[in-house]
Amino acid sequence: MQGPSLSACSQPAVGSSDPFLFTQPESSLPLKSFTVILILKSGATDDQVDHVIERVEALGLKAHLSRGTFRTIIGIIGDESQIAEESIRAIPGVSKVIPVLPPYKLASREAHPDGTIVDVGGVKIGGGNIGLIAGPCSVEEEDRMHRIAEQVAAAGANIFRGGAFKPRTSPYAFQGLGEEGLKRLRDAGHAHGMPVVTEVTDPRLVELVAEYADMLQVGARNMQNFALLNEVGASKRPVLLKRGMSATINDLLMCAEYILSQGNMNVVLCERGIKGFDPATRNLFDVSAVPLVQQLSHLPIIVDPSHATGKPELIPACALAGLAAGADGVHIEVHDCPEVAKSDGPQALLPEQYAEVAAQMKQLAELFGKSISPLPETIA
Ligand code: PEP
Ligand code: MN
Repeated sequence: MQGPSLSACSQPAVGSSDPFLFTQPESSLPLKSFTVILILKSGATDDQVDHVIERVEALGLKAHLSRGTFRTIIGIIGDESQIAEESIRAIPGVSKVIPVLPPYKLASREAHPDGTIVDVGGVKIGGGNIGLIAGPCSVEEEDRMHRIAEQVAAAGANIFRGGAFKPRTSPYAFQGLGEEGLKRLRDAGHAHGMPVVTEVTDPRLVELVAEYADMLQVGARNMQNFALLNEVGASKRPVLLKRGMSATINDLLMCAEYILSQGNMNVVLCERGIKGFDPATRNLFDVSAVPLVQQLSHLPIIVDPSHATGKPELIPACALAGLAAGADGVHIEVHDCPEVAKSDGPQALLPEQYAEVAAQMKQLAELFGKSISPLPETIA
């Protein structure tokens, strides 16, 4: 099939509303001199090659032509942010557009060779500091929250969790206690010296949740809720970004990039299992995501063996596997009476089971020359 004629796409001036151009968010860092390689189709004509070069140069970039026996390649040198990959791919004669650097500039290890350490209300995650997040799936009765907080803190947890806004598959299932839940979570966590993390499900709730929480969780179901990512990116609170159940590693890092590009550099990633074919476990725990993300990104990554496996008997082994793979923390759901839990009771560890695995995690962390982050001296 014939592509659009070359003359139909007239040459736009640089800076016009060219479809190749997109504007970077103001808060993002200017990143210059990235390169893209274009591979042309085997039958690309001389006119098409000239046209590609014209388009590239019109963007203020340099094009280096290299003609091989079977393929012609054009290397582009300049500010890669000027290039909208899809539009370049639509030029007649272009077969592939290969960016040399990853599309997640701010999240990439290349941009920041040193690992980021995220401070969650005085508890550090990353750089050898291990975050142990524990607590019930949903925020529940006040006395129960205090009891569980006391037990997990005594076991070594340093961040208390609990959902006040719950993303449920069924609209008839328990949806969370809302603002009252935020208060109970914060009061129980802070009373026992721990900062708190809780999920925010809607961009309109970010301000409210940030008033109570020391860290905002973006859950698996909302990983690609871009409005929510932008909103938590504009917030001052650190963010726990969970991997979507069907998300690739690239998807996860691009979502982190949304948050970073809004100026919030305090992002912790979380591997919580992806969809597998076998219902034997709730999800498939992708432990390889940990070292892979650490190669690609400077952001800390923790594991959540509770949602990954859905089975209390598998959680300790997977928690230790995550740490052995290099995770910067472990997120585990704990309930003192799972049979009455408002959500995720079947996967909850009892406090005494948590204490056992927490002691093992401490030992393993020390073996790797890391340590469980101490609780902050004071908590606001
Ligand atoms: C949760 O942390 O309770 C939760 C709903 O997690 P996820 O988004 O990973 O399913
Ligand atoms: Mn849960």
